Amino acid sequence: MQKQKIMGGIIGVVVGDALGLPVQFASRELRRQRPVTGMEGWGSFKLPPGYWSDDSSLTLCLVESICRHEIDPADAGARFLKWYEDGYWTPTGYAFDVGNATTEAMERMRTGIPAEKAGPNNETDNGNGALMRILPAAIYLAEEDDTTMAAGIHLMSGITHGHLRSKVACCLYTMMVRELLAGATPQQAYRSLCHTQELTKLPGMVPGELQHFTRILSGKIDELPEAEINSDGYVIHTLEAALWCLLRNDNYQDTVLEAVNLGWDTDTTAAVVGGLAGIAYGLGGIPAEWIQFLPRQEEILELAEEFADKVINHKNSSPI
Ligand SMILES: [Mg+2]
Repeated sequence: MQKQKIMGGIIGVVVGDALGLPVQFASRELRRQRPVTGMEGWGSFKLPPGYWSDDSSLTLCLVESICRHEIDPADAGARFLKWYEDGYWTPTGYAFDVGNATTEAMERMRTGIPAEKAGPNNETDNGNGALMRILPAAIYLAEEDDTTMAAGIHLMSGITHGHLRSKVACCLYTMMVRELLAGATPQQAYRSLCHTQELTKLPGMVPGELQHFTRILSGKIDELPEAEINSDGYVIHTLEAALWCLLRNDNYQDTVLEAVNLGWDTDTTAAVVGGLAGIAYGLGGIPAEWIQFLPRQEEILELAEEFADKVINHKNSSPI
């Protein structure tokens, strides 16, 4: 059961990314006129149905890094650089759809800056590029205490996104992952997140940052009308949109399609919520015909299974 959830999370990111990629940058108005209902392909990047982008490439790099080296930013950063320079873990042989902060981080790493300090940390560097690829670290650290979890997540976010806002967003995402892995429904997981007493003690949750998470932590994000949900590339907007879609649907398919049909940064919104929905509904909850479209699907499934075993063994070997 746990294995199905872990594998569902990883595959859920890739499928969400692939569903959204062909309509990335297109407006919500366009989606209203012609909603996406399945794997389409072509469109924004002129790639066949099922092709996935940076969100999945970096997630798979991180999965592989954790399988071999656990939480090791230097190793994860080296794999990200291999993606950026050589197209490692891409379906095309080259990196594409690369975000601004990630580009800057990769260039900084090339000059010898250590991976954990590579992510730029200005307030304007809070795109969703760390959140979209943090899931493997979130799953791996889910059962750790908040301090240990936050330290690991901050390190892993910081490879491409060094600002506290991105790091805190990744921590809140991890707290949802923790609940969903433990068997909570999306609604139960969200309620637990919003009722966490010690949230203000979470590393990085300083007053100046906390205010940006008010709508997320209100306990009522799903009650907002669609017009108030933004689906651009800002990390707060992506986390809000992901939770909104997760809480308003009761299966993987409807959840990720709603994310794609919000328009704009469709691949990443769908990848971020796809990870959560993949855990909530398990690998079996993801339509098999969508998985069939993914290039390198056998390698991805094999890696996801290796990762699930690694996580389960790690959990069993942790001192109680
Ligand atoms: Mg992308």
